Amino acid sequence: MELEVKRHIQIIGQDFDQGIFPNILDGGVLIPGARPIAPVLGKERGHYGQQSRQTEPPRTTGTSAASAASAASAASGAPGTSGSAAQVACTTADLEDEIDTLKRAYPGTQSYHQAYGVWLQIPCAVLHGLGYRAKFLVALNTSLRQVSAWGFWEAGDVSVRWIGDRHTNYGDGSICAFDGRDGTWQFGGSLITLADLYAMWAFRHLHLHVRGHWPGPQSAERRLERVYEFQPNEQCGCDTPSGTYENCCMAKDTAAELMPGPLELSAMRSNIRYALERQNRRPPAVIAELVSEANGMQVFPEFTPNLVDWVTGNWI
Ligand SMILES: [Zn+2]
Repeated sequence: MELEVKRHIQIIGQDFDQGIFPNILDGGVLIPGARPIAPVLGKERGHYGQQSRQTEPPRTTGTSAASAASAASAASGAPGTSGSAAQVACTTADLEDEIDTLKRAYPGTQSYHQAYGVWLQIPCAVLHGLGYRAKFLVALNTSLRQVSAWGFWEAGDVSVRWIGDRHTNYGDGSICAFDGRDGTWQFGGSLITLADLYAMWAFRHLHLHVRGHWPGPQSAERRLERVYEFQPNEQCGCDTPSGTYENCCMAKDTAAELMPGPLELSAMRSNIRYALERQNRRPPAVIAELVSEANGMQVFPEFTPNLVDWVTGNWI
């Protein structure tokens, strides 16, 4: 990896830790938000800095049932949620314009229409000069009004590697790029915003791999999850985070896990569920096959209620 790329990873990571979003160019190229580099190739599209449409990086969530349900509910724009009716694309046909716009912002994006939804393949550069790129396989289920997506690193035509394994993946290995409770994105919202969120999520995985910690806010209400997944210098993800994990909950979490005492049944169930998810966290075989194009024709499965379990991540 070139020094310049490593430098950008460090700078953008530090920005995330300070609550500053990167700028995102067409193709999903991240550049530092507060200190744009020059010359900048490509057209700058979104600025997620402090004066932009969002004020802080998305909290990436854990896999607690509450978080998953909440994220699914918010992402689905189910009746009773606060999605703007004008924004909501109700059918596959309604998504056409949105998909065309996405294809201009993320060149190379392909769409595969189904009776009850659309599969998208979105290539994403993540950083200039990285040497490989991300690819997102996105299932937009219009009948359920839900989205699930999986991220992969792709180098050349043959090398494809799942982006994981982290509590910021759901149990089915899919992307957990934001906490649904924050209202960051809802079904029917801009697909470019969604792809940008995935681009930032992929960057944060890259940062974890290169620099050893997850940059920026994250959410994990479960003590066991924080103990297993958090580095001391990562931001704490408890309900009332205060700085790094080391300076917030780490000592008390570790002590409590060493001497757990009696657990309420709900907490015990939650821990068991987390342990199972963590142990089995990976994409379903059909997703791995699709992304590697192993089935040649890339036959995408139809969206049916039978696929709900794995499409929504509640398959375990
Ligand atoms: Zn904390």
